[in-house]
Amino acid sequence: METKYLQFNSADLSLAGELIRQGELVAFPTETVYGLGANALDVRAVSSTYVAKGRPSDNPLIVHVWDKSQIYEIAREVSADAEKIVDQVMPASLTVVLPKRDTISDVITAGLDTVAIRMPSSVQAREFLRYAQVPVTAPSANLSGRPSPTSWQRVRDDMDGRVAAILCGEDCNVGIESTVLDLSGAHPLILRPGVVTAQQIEQVLGKSVEVVTNPKSKVNSPGVRYRHYAPKVPMALDLSGDVAKLTAYYDGLVKQGFTPVLLVEQPQSYGNRNVYPIGSTDEQVAQALFENLRILEEKYDYIVASFTSNTAFGQSILNRLVRAAGNNII
Ligand code: AMP
Ligand code: MG
Repeated sequence: METKYLQFNSADLSLAGELIRQGELVAFPTETVYGLGANALDVRAVSSTYVAKGRPSDNPLIVHVWDKSQIYEIAREVSADAEKIVDQVMPASLTVVLPKRDTISDVITAGLDTVAIRMPSSVQAREFLRYAQVPVTAPSANLSGRPSPTSWQRVRDDMDGRVAAILCGEDCNVGIESTVLDLSGAHPLILRPGVVTAQQIEQVLGKSVEVVTNPKSKVNSPGVRYRHYAPKVPMALDLSGDVAKLTAYYDGLVKQGFTPVLLVEQPQSYGNRNVYPIGSTDEQVAQALFENLRILEEKYDYIVASFTSNTAFGQSILNRLVRAAGNNII
C-alpha cells in the first residue's frame, strides 16, 4: 500500500480520522513515542495492527482517548483510586489498567478481563484522537522488537508501505513509553515503569504502590516478556560509569575485530575512541535513547552503553536499556 504523509492541518486531520473510522492504520505522535493507531471498536482494524508490526497477539494493546468521559465507556468499573488518578493525574504519560466492558474485544486485551487506557498529555495526540471520534488502540509504531520511534521519520523507516498514513507531528519529548499502572486488583501495581513514578502515584492515592517488573512474575504485564527495544547490533550495558573498565571493554572489542561505540555520560574521557553522548540528565537520556540506538546501529557494529543515574525515573530508563542490551550487563 502507499502510505500517505499527513500534516497537522484540519484537512489532513479530518482525513486521518476518516481513515481510522474506515478501519485503516494511522501512525501519530504522542509525548512518549509514536503510536500505531487503529479503531478500537473495529476488531479487524485492531487485528491488522499485530500484522503490520509483526507483534505477538498475546501482547495486549493500550486504548487511547482524548476525553476523560471515554474512560467510563471503556472500563466496566472505575474504583475510587482510579477516579483520583483520572481526575488528578490525567492527561499524562500514564496508562491505567481497569476491568473492561464487553464492548472491548479480546483481540485488544489478549483475552484478559482488563483493559489498558491512556489519555496522552501531547496536544497533537489528543487532537488526532478527537478527529478520530472513536477510542484508538495504539502500540508503539515500530516493527516488533525494535527501538520505539520518537520522530515521524523513524516511523517511516519501519512502517512505510505497511500503514495507510503517518501523521507528521513533533518529535516526542518524553522518549520512553508510558508508566503502566494496574488498578484492577486489590492493590495498585506498576507493571511497566515510566516517567510517572510510583512516588507520584503514592502521593495521589495516599497508599503504597508496588512496582512489579520481574518478567517471570505472574501478575506482570504480558508485553514485558518480549525482547524489546533492541538495536540491530549487539549491545552491552555498564552501570558503574568506570572509565578504565569501559576503556578496557572497548579495546577488547576492537581486538576482536569490532568497530564499537561508547554511549556514555562523559564522552570526553575516552581519548580518540568512538563515543556518543547518552545525555547528562534523565530527561535528556530518555528523550534521545531510542533515536541514539537507531543512529548508532547504522555506523557501528557494537554499542557499549553506560548509565549511572539511580533516581526513580532513572530506573525506568534502565528498564529499557537492560532490554535493549538483551540483559548483557558488563
Ligand atoms: P506498547 O503498546 O508496546 O507500549 O505496549 C503496551 C503494553 O501495555 C503491553 O505490552 C502490556 O505490557 C501493557 N498492557 C496492555 N493491556 C494490558 C492489560 N490489560 N493488563 C496488563 N498490561 C497491559
Ligand atoms: Mg512497543
